[in-house]
Amino acid sequence: MTREEALTFYKNWQEKKEAYGLVMSTAYYDQETIAPQAGSAVRNKALAYLSGEVYDIETDPKAIEVLEFLAKEDLGEEKNREIALALRSLDNVRALDKEEVVAFNEESMASFDDWQKAKHEKDYARFEPHLLKLIGFSKRFAAKRHPDMDPYDVYLDDYEEGMTAADYDRFFDLVRSELSPLVFEIAQHQDRVDDSFLHLDYPKEKQAKFAEDICKALGFSRDWGYMGISEHPFTNGISKNDVRITTAYDEKDVSASLYSIVHEVGHAFFEHQVKDEFAGTPLHHMISSGMHESQSRFLENYIGRRKAFLKGLYPKLQEYFPEQLGNVSLDAFWRAVNASRPSLIRTQADELTYPLHILIRYEIEKSIFKGTADLEHLNTLWNEKYKEYLGVDVPDDGVGILQDVHWSGASFGYFPTYALGSAIGAQLLHAMEKDLDIDAALEKGEFFRITDWLKEHFQQYGARYTFKEAVVKATGEEFDPHYYIDYLKKKYRTLYGLDQ
Ligand code: ZN
Repeated sequence: MTREEALTFYKNWQEKKEAYGLVMSTAYYDQETIAPQAGSAVRNKALAYLSGEVYDIETDPKAIEVLEFLAKEDLGEEKNREIALALRSLDNVRALDKEEVVAFNEESMASFDDWQKAKHEKDYARFEPHLLKLIGFSKRFAAKRHPDMDPYDVYLDDYEEGMTAADYDRFFDLVRSELSPLVFEIAQHQDRVDDSFLHLDYPKEKQAKFAEDICKALGFSRDWGYMGISEHPFTNGISKNDVRITTAYDEKDVSASLYSIVHEVGHAFFEHQVKDEFAGTPLHHMISSGMHESQSRFLENYIGRRKAFLKGLYPKLQEYFPEQLGNVSLDAFWRAVNASRPSLIRTQADELTYPLHILIRYEIEKSIFKGTADLEHLNTLWNEKYKEYLGVDVPDDGVGILQDVHWSGASFGYFPTYALGSAIGAQLLHAMEKDLDIDAALEKGEFFRITDWLKEHFQQYGARYTFKEAVVKATGEEFDPHYYIDYLKKKYRTLYGLDQ
């Protein structure tokens, strides 16, 4: 095969995957937002058929041969990176026997079904045998794929290229030693921030009107984006110029939809602002979840929870809800949306307690792969850690070890990327502040200054660089978790009136 032949094959292969991907993600968005329930059987059948086709295209032996050939060619840095990413996504297929992969897929489907029931029934015993089997699969697969690597590092690297347990240890050691004591201290002073007014009645219809104001303020344009409603908010980048987000309205929490929109718009900008030349290639689609979360959380927490951001929007919210918020000052509202209290559920955690939820999962996963965890009592281990780091008692496994879907699909190594995404935001903020007066831009209603900065320094590159490299590119420094720890300590000590 000549280089030209290989490149032509690759181009066609890539475009075919793209075409299937576009149809499937559009159907998925439909299904989660507007599609009638009664059509689900036909839709599911069609989608299952299409995903089978995609699997065959992706794992076509000829494609793997071509990619392996091209990986050895000098195609220029960007093209070589693109090929390397395409090969990376096929690591499992290349290293494992088909029977093993099929057996694993069957086990994870059965595991998912039983996890749903187990969570609902608060019955860990139903899920436990699946979890142990998946741990067994994962250990065997890691040893086959990369016998030279520590097995947990194999999975950490799958979700965030180049990250190892040694990197995460440096970060989580600080979370444990610096943030956990702060959480306990703040728990003693809950009376200092009142957020009760966020939980009055907030009818959906008015929240939906406010949602339009939020999108406008953020520059989330109808030209390339669309917002629907689903049970859980998400972003679906159908293509660079067709990015769909969703929100959900909670009538008992007016801040939930506000911050879910800011978060998803953060994802949407990343999808939209990748360089044109990268659009639709692995340099666009293979952006890691940690990198994506760094952008969504940046807008949500580092920008969206600033007083200057709320200054423009809050008076509008008061107009929609004069009875609920007419007598609540901007300052009181700002304090309320930043309140922190230890809780049981990760997805509902505030900015400060969130990394402790991740620390707990990280420590458990690490001990599983090291072989030091007592696999018969992982739920007990879970509960002990919640008590130790957050001071909360776990009443049942439904709100304990069964709360997240990830382990039911053997997604070990995924959780740490959530905390990493938050942590890198603080370093980006530090870099942005050198170039830009953020509060002044927000007060002038120039939100584009923030998204333009993110585009120029981070988002345009998509998956061209690993997360570690991208951070150096954007900030001029290696990832340094101290920015994050210092940011949280300063913010929360001030908010709760504790000594600095
Ligand atoms: Zn997200």
